[in-house]
Amino acid sequence: MTLILVMMAAVWAVGAWLKTPVGQRLAVIAVIWAGVIVEHLVLPAEHPLRQATGGSAQVWLVLGGAVALVLAYRFGIARLRDRAAPKEPDLPAGAFRPAELDRYARHILLREIGGPGQRRLKDARVLVVGAGGLGAPALLYLAAAGVGRIGVIDDDVVESSNLQRQVIHADARLGMAKAQSAVIAMQALNPFVEARSYTRRLTPEIAGDLFGEHDLILDGSDNFDTRELVNRVAVQLCKPLIAGALTQWEGQISLYDPARGGPCHACVFPQRPAPGLVPTCAEAGVAGPLPGVVGSMMALEAVKAITGAGEGLRGRLLLFDGLHGENRVISLRKRPGCPVCGNLHPDGWTVPDPAP
Ligand SMILES: [Zn+2]
Repeated sequence: MTLILVMMAAVWAVGAWLKTPVGQRLAVIAVIWAGVIVEHLVLPAEHPLRQATGGSAQVWLVLGGAVALVLAYRFGIARLRDRAAPKEPDLPAGAFRPAELDRYARHILLREIGGPGQRRLKDARVLVVGAGGLGAPALLYLAAAGVGRIGVIDDDVVESSNLQRQVIHADARLGMAKAQSAVIAMQALNPFVEARSYTRRLTPEIAGDLFGEHDLILDGSDNFDTRELVNRVAVQLCKPLIAGALTQWEGQISLYDPARGGPCHACVFPQRPAPGLVPTCAEAGVAGPLPGVVGSMMALEAVKAITGAGEGLRGRLLLFDGLHGENRVISLRKRPGCPVCGNLHPDGWTVPDPAP
């Protein structure tokens, strides 16, 4: 019996040395095994060959069964792995995979976006400040739309009182950093985009570098200091800024882009509101779906700004009254002597339009 096993091992070893495919090596071993089984079935019990090969077929059948089980298990695992990570041919840098073309088919059908627009979305790098009420839908829709790289900065953690409206987070992620939770949700929605989390407060020290790595900034923050900082750095770096804001039932949104015309955020909101005049969501409450409306509009404006579709909200403030179901749009003008955008010479704008 030992001799047969040694023979099988030798077949395997020589096959491996000659780089014979595993299947062929297994086939030769299976033939030897089948020969032994047949020999046990055909020859009389006292035959010396049967005595020399274990005396009965049982032990060989058990051995063969065990090996077959192991092989079937390994084959099954390999199949599952292949299905989970299908092999794709190497694509040229930046090209769409067939699965992406399928995913973005409804965009590609749109005359205003089409293939070139989807390409711009894939090449775009968008930073969202705040993964709260406005950031939640904005981030999800940016990811779904195929924005190639999405950064999110927020220093909060997910709390249960957020979940009434911040739909990017989940009950299972209570206590997790919001930026990290948002990245998990975005990658789950669309594995073809790159999402990066920055779990920290936006400060003047880091804002310049962070904004410099992105083409477009979305501000969904909830306090004046952050808004002021976001606007100032965006103006300095000539980055278009889409900012939304909420109170109880009302929201507002505009695209601030003085580098390409129109006012900056500070032209329109120059003064810090008096304490208590603009209560926060935590103080005054907010209707759950309202940030969904305004945050989705921010993502829509972002898609338009990146692809060049339609007419953006540059120089216009859209006011949404959710309680009465009304929209209003008011024109905005650059404020002469604005301390943020007023002193910059027009020749200073060197960054090309993101949507030529
Ligand atoms: Zn200004």
